[in-house]
Amino acid sequence: MSGDESRQWMEAMVDPLVACDGHEHILYVNPAAERLLGWRREQLVGRPFALLLPDRLRTFGSQSFLRHMHSRVWERGGGAVRTRIHLHNHSEREVDVTVGASGAPGEERITVVLRRVPERIRAREEPPESATHTTPAVEHAYQLVFENAPLGLFHFDDTPTLIACNDYFVRLIGTSKRRIIGLNLLALHDEAITACVRDVLEGRHAYYEGDYRTTPTGKATPVRVHFAPCIAENGEVEGGVGIVEDITEQRSAEAERTRLFREAQEAIRVRDDFLTIASHELKTPLTPLSLRLASLERRLERQEPVDPALLRHARQHLLRLTALINDLLDASRIEAGRLALQFEPTRVDSLVERALAGMDAERGQHRIDYSHPSEPVRIRGDAYRLEQVIANLLENALKYSPGASTVRVSLDVRGDFALLSVADEGIGIPRDQQEQLFERYFRARNVSITSYGGLGLGLYISRDIVERHGGRIWVESEMGRGSTFYVALPLLSAVNPPPPEPQALSQHMH
Ligand code: ADP
Repeated sequence: MSGDESRQWMEAMVDPLVACDGHEHILYVNPAAERLLGWRREQLVGRPFALLLPDRLRTFGSQSFLRHMHSRVWERGGGAVRTRIHLHNHSEREVDVTVGASGAPGEERITVVLRRVPERIRAREEPPESATHTTPAVEHAYQLVFENAPLGLFHFDDTPTLIACNDYFVRLIGTSKRRIIGLNLLALHDEAITACVRDVLEGRHAYYEGDYRTTPTGKATPVRVHFAPCIAENGEVEGGVGIVEDITEQRSAEAERTRLFREAQEAIRVRDDFLTIASHELKTPLTPLSLRLASLERRLERQEPVDPALLRHARQHLLRLTALINDLLDASRIEAGRLALQFEPTRVDSLVERALAGMDAERGQHRIDYSHPSEPVRIRGDAYRLEQVIANLLENALKYSPGASTVRVSLDVRGDFALLSVADEGIGIPRDQQEQLFERYFRARNVSITSYGGLGLGLYISRDIVERHGGRIWVESEMGRGSTFYVALPLLSAVNPPPPEPQALSQHMH
């Protein structure tokens, strides 16, 4: 056959054909190829074949596209390989490629036959002829399932090149089909994924879970992927499929469950600690009380004189017990929103004086300095409950500071507020725990149950009472140097002032 004759044959071919030299430069393009590619022959002759390929498909590892396709066609016993090419109008088109080569290396002639892959088959009407034969209607049904399944789906061949994927998949990983179809999955950076792909090519199922990060946008999506091999009729693996689930919601539900579990565990721990402390605290006054009553009984039986101090001590233990039980009751009333307050005009200066008088028995070696206001300080509030707050602050100041130190109490008016402060020279409070002091059952780490008794309820109750008066309670403290607790309450003359700013008020005190 002469050169002219073979050229005529090629011109007459229905399938698009491109012929290249050994350096992969185009020598010839037949009319069918011109029609498919949108280029005219003279525009292509002499130019590299790579011009007809999307950037991402120009090389496969160290091989050029044509070398790679040639070896694949060879592996497949001459069968075409599906891929995509780049058209003159910059769009892409899916084609089946067959690459043939002959001649010595460098001198070769390479022919590339490009067959169009038909656009989506749209026929619906015909029912399937038989279960094994795929009719257009069935294919259409497959297509519908593929495109509309609420899961990301993709398919790759045994090279392993991504051949197809649905819209859900590209949306999920935040890219476009154009970018990823034709991608070699072994070129992905995520080693966990490439390991799954390798497993699949060896015929095994594989699972991936993690944050998939797309390179162009850097968007990370938490996904779970199930990879499964596609096995041909002859038993060979001819690629694989992947099912991708977006697990963003599952992840946040899991995180929420973990958080709730931790909170529940913490609540159980707090309850257990509380029970230990509460039983210890409730039991402590009982032993001396019972001893004193026994000694009283003996003396009375022997008709000996009774020391009033014995009775006083017994009473003090009873008062301590009553106070603890009252704190427990108040705390549960607050939790249930049932701690009732009786608001009426009252004088804070009188409440402070009454609370100080009540401290006489507990004062011991301490000195208490009181800097009182020059005029009565009137507010609207529950006198009984506010006295409880002041007494709690005084008791704490005495309890958490060494004997013979001074507790300084001051009451003053600051703008719309009455400001009370109780300062001690005691153990202080670790800075990182100062915020938490007002929480239920909270006790700072520098008070151990044995040396300083307490249920961690006094300040919790105090905060509730003060805030329900439209006021605020806070602390300033330095470890080992002492603490100052402040209470600000709106004056009777002030009409609903906004809650006071601690810093602004306490600055005046120093
Ligand atoms: P309790 O004193 O019964 O433990 P409170 O609610 O009155 O309960 O106080 C909570 C915690 O605040 C105390 O356990 C202690 O750690 C800390 N605290 C309160 N007042 C003082 C103070 N004046 N000095 C040092 N720490 C204090």
